Amino acid sequence: MRICHIASEISPIAKVGGLADVTLGLSREVQNLGHHVTVILPKYACLKHEGLEHLTPYKTETKVYFDQKWHPLEITKATVHGVPVILIESASSRKYFNQSQIYGYPDDPVRFAFLSCAALAFLKEEMEDINVIHMHDWQTALIAPLFHEFYQRHLKARLIFTIHNLGYQGLASFSLLTKVGLDKKKYGSANALKDPKRDDRINLMKGAIIFSDAVTTVSPQYALEIQEPFHAKGLEKVIRQNTDKIFGILNGIDYKIWNPEHDEALASKYTPHCLEKKAADKKYLREILKLPLLEKSPLVTCICRLVPQKGLRMIKKAISSTLKLGGQFVLFGSSPIEKIQKDFERLDHELDPNPNVRFIFDSYNERLAHQIYAGADIIICPSIFEPCGLTQLIALQYGTVPLVRKTGGLANTVFDIEEDKEYPNKTNGFTFIPPTSKAIHETLKRAFSIYRERPELWKEIIQRGMTMDFSWGESAKHYLELYHFNPKKMAE
Ligand code: ADP
Repeated sequence: MRICHIASEISPIAKVGGLADVTLGLSREVQNLGHHVTVILPKYACLKHEGLEHLTPYKTETKVYFDQKWHPLEITKATVHGVPVILIESASSRKYFNQSQIYGYPDDPVRFAFLSCAALAFLKEEMEDINVIHMHDWQTALIAPLFHEFYQRHLKARLIFTIHNLGYQGLASFSLLTKVGLDKKKYGSANALKDPKRDDRINLMKGAIIFSDAVTTVSPQYALEIQEPFHAKGLEKVIRQNTDKIFGILNGIDYKIWNPEHDEALASKYTPHCLEKKAADKKYLREILKLPLLEKSPLVTCICRLVPQKGLRMIKKAISSTLKLGGQFVLFGSSPIEKIQKDFERLDHELDPNPNVRFIFDSYNERLAHQIYAGADIIICPSIFEPCGLTQLIALQYGTVPLVRKTGGLANTVFDIEEDKEYPNKTNGFTFIPPTSKAIHETLKRAFSIYRERPELWKEIIQRGMTMDFSWGESAKHYLELYHFNPKKMAE
């Protein structure tokens, strides 16, 4: 099969969050199963060049009509960890991807609409034998209605749309339809892209749900949750109308990248059978972060974008509870929202005299991320909602015990050592349900007590987590079934 992902992120060259890991991990796995996979993404000026290989300009006559004029395309071919990528930018004087960051600009919907139009024009001219076009999140959602209107006579591909996060739906003004050549009346109507809540906006994700052949979410639990208004955030009706073609497929992680046995970033490599070597990583992490070497003091971490979805109040509570209970805390990540960033900087300042806490406001430092996953004892994910969550999966692989709120993919992957006794072979962490400070405090207390008083049980939890398989293998097979199209069979 010939599969083309069109996405706004791929690890490690363009990463903001989990989407980047998924684009790379899924592509590599499907490629290993013998299929042709290509990834189309913007040629951002801020691409990280480490990991980007075989860069070659690609000669093409392809032009795209966008925003009232023809744009010749600047295409570059390259590979990322062996996956062929096509990088796209306009060759006209109007550039769409020359900013210093991937997202965060008022014209983001226009920038990614350009990507969507350009990618389809490129496929039609250069890859017309493509079997599957796989789109990811709102940034490439417009491809579905564009394909429906202009390309289905030329390309025989099936359209798959993956929802990584319904918290970001891609709202834009109606003028975007004109820019991409779609009829405002037809595609701006209530049964097409018109946003269900705001009369003056179109909703790009809604369009992809309607016009794709199949839609996936990144965990089975999230596929159920998004039928409810709290999680669907206005799209519950269109989701319920399309449940027959919506499937939850759990994300995997790439064990070539996330594997403590072979991880070059670690001070000491380890397996489930030599956990004393993980202790050496904890010691190393404490040294580099200048945390005191305390006995029986669990090292708790939170590795995430600081956005409301991640449960900011509970994160703060976890910091104070950890310190009160005699643990140490490492917060790793930053916020794209200035007010939240300032708030955490203030907290950092207030906590400054305490030697047992470190805030590292670095939004992307892959090497340090590996070292923290290895050196920590516990990772917290108190998300309000979490479509899949990768940090708990990576942590499990590194023998770092997840402590999570039971929602979305967290509920599909973390099972409480005491609460989920009916699945003894799966219990691998700690969970709680109410999104409250009290609940996370009590759960941390439980975890600390097992860590300190029942080391054998703690070791068992770690070892069970480390031997669980969250690789891409199973998930890739589900995607391939979907690529071959038989939604009814998938639903059985
Ligand atoms: P989301 O996509 O909502 O940000 P996920 O849990 O799905 O959350 O994915 C987060 C990804 O980003 C993981 O690979 C995690 O290791 C990575 N990550 C988060 N914060 C940082 C950071 N400060 N430095 C490096 N990687 C980070």
